[in-house]
Amino acid sequence: MLSYYRAMTVPSPVQISPVQGLHHVTVMASDPQRNIDFYTQVLGQRMVKVTVNFDDPGTYHLYYGDRTGQPGTIMTHFPWPGAARGVRGNGEVVATAYSAPIASYDFWLGRLTGPGLTGAGLQVSRGQRFGQEVLSVADPDGTWVELVFEDGAPVQDWPASPVPLEHALRGFHSVTGWVGDTGAVRDLLVGQLGFSEVGTEEGAGGPRTRFRGGGDDGSGAGVGLFVDVVERPGQPRGSFGAGSVHHAALRTRDDAQQTAYLEQLTAASYRPTPVQDRQYFHSIYFREGNGILFEIATDAPGFPDDEPVDGLGKHLRLPAWYEARRPAIEAHLPRIVSPEYGVTLGTRELGATPRDELPGPGIQVLTAGRPLGEARVAAILLHGRGATAQDILSLEGGLNLSAFTYLAPQAAGNSWYPHSFLAPVAENQPHLDAALATVEDLLTELEAQGIPAQKVVLGGFSQGACLALEYASRSAVKLGGVVALSGALITLDRDADLDGLPIFMGVAPDDAHIPLDRFEASADLLRSRGAALDARVFPGLGHAVNAEELDAMRALMQGVAAQV
Ligand code: ZN
Repeated sequence: MLSYYRAMTVPSPVQISPVQGLHHVTVMASDPQRNIDFYTQVLGQRMVKVTVNFDDPGTYHLYYGDRTGQPGTIMTHFPWPGAARGVRGNGEVVATAYSAPIASYDFWLGRLTGPGLTGAGLQVSRGQRFGQEVLSVADPDGTWVELVFEDGAPVQDWPASPVPLEHALRGFHSVTGWVGDTGAVRDLLVGQLGFSEVGTEEGAGGPRTRFRGGGDDGSGAGVGLFVDVVERPGQPRGSFGAGSVHHAALRTRDDAQQTAYLEQLTAASYRPTPVQDRQYFHSIYFREGNGILFEIATDAPGFPDDEPVDGLGKHLRLPAWYEARRPAIEAHLPRIVSPEYGVTLGTRELGATPRDELPGPGIQVLTAGRPLGEARVAAILLHGRGATAQDILSLEGGLNLSAFTYLAPQAAGNSWYPHSFLAPVAENQPHLDAALATVEDLLTELEAQGIPAQKVVLGGFSQGACLALEYASRSAVKLGGVVALSGALITLDRDADLDGLPIFMGVAPDDAHIPLDRFEASADLLRSRGAALDARVFPGLGHAVNAEELDAMRALMQGVAAQV
């Protein structure tokens, strides 16, 4: 049953133009070559840029779009070989729809279902949405990719596409998010960003509400205008992995508009990030009330900024700050072949074990204890070098605290950084920063789930203990407490005000990895910064955890749980 509402015009805030629509969609993937083959050879999109994840140069960032990579056509992927599949759930974008010509319906149905490279046995589901035909398939990592048939705006055709020109996809039509509460999306899109509400129709998964961006005033003529949400109250959140959509980026014309949005979203308590330089656009990120991560990206400078249109995607592009490390980065990146140019990029054979694994954003997180949605207190536990998330989670049984949910991230290669914590910090970069960012990401995620940092205990063993102390000593975030089992500070020159932060530290006097004088210097520093410190030395402990330490940890955690 369809129930259309008249599109309403919402007065946008003074001097801010409406957000125009979609800029790009960013998805986690696994095997990079399968990803390239699907998007270029099946869907006929051009790989317009091969670069790395700016936060993790060991991972590709692949961009697909029209010939020049215009906003509204850009699908981007972080392929992380071997990554486990995500599970779809509320609070995320679950599908991205391209616009396809109405007359091309049979062509695409045949191409997606037919034999050979282009079909490859894809299972296609057919449906209708707001009066338009829709085909849905899963990409090689399970991301839902849809084609909506409409007479949409033309984009810039890519002559080398294996898809004949008249059937070429025309950039995005929409994304679909799953949410518990459509109202929160409306508050953001209509209330803050100048979208209008198109209407709601009943669908198999729940009522689908469509919002339309400000669109076609002069640039890009109507590409990627729509954000749909399907309301599924009471359904669980997903778990992030290969095939999960990381975020949907909306587009704005220039930096001035972006700054205006940044100020407005800050005032409205969306807590957007500061502007980040993504080389081809400038970005801010924020979540709506259900947890969907949105970005606002500028149209400029665009993809032809650092290579000619005729050569887009031909070479590995690195931002200036990584150029000095290009040989190491190329040696680490998996070998891929560009179908357009036949050139090979990256040199690592997949399947080989990298000697020096770089950490990644697609970090797996194991959980234990009370389910995340039901807990009001949490512990983030960081494993030691050579150990696993599973190992550190075994503390849960000994702690026996039923109120806590436990999150344990797994470091790539079982190590958060390659050298001893006593080595010069630069030798452990960028791994150390990436590991600290992992902690930050988990805190952000917990906050989004209703558990603020003050209700989080950050704990770790050995290398994980060093990391936990280091995070606490340099972060402005006020944690609930810190537990460092056989660890010490990595740097002794941080001056964050710890303001009564409860910290427990335990070590053996003859620990082979943690010199006692470093332990004591760390304790002195933390105490001088205002921490409520309980630092104990246990003769005979070895590099291990004993019952007294568990008791101290339990007491600290109970204190955090008891605080209102
Ligand atoms: Zn993005």
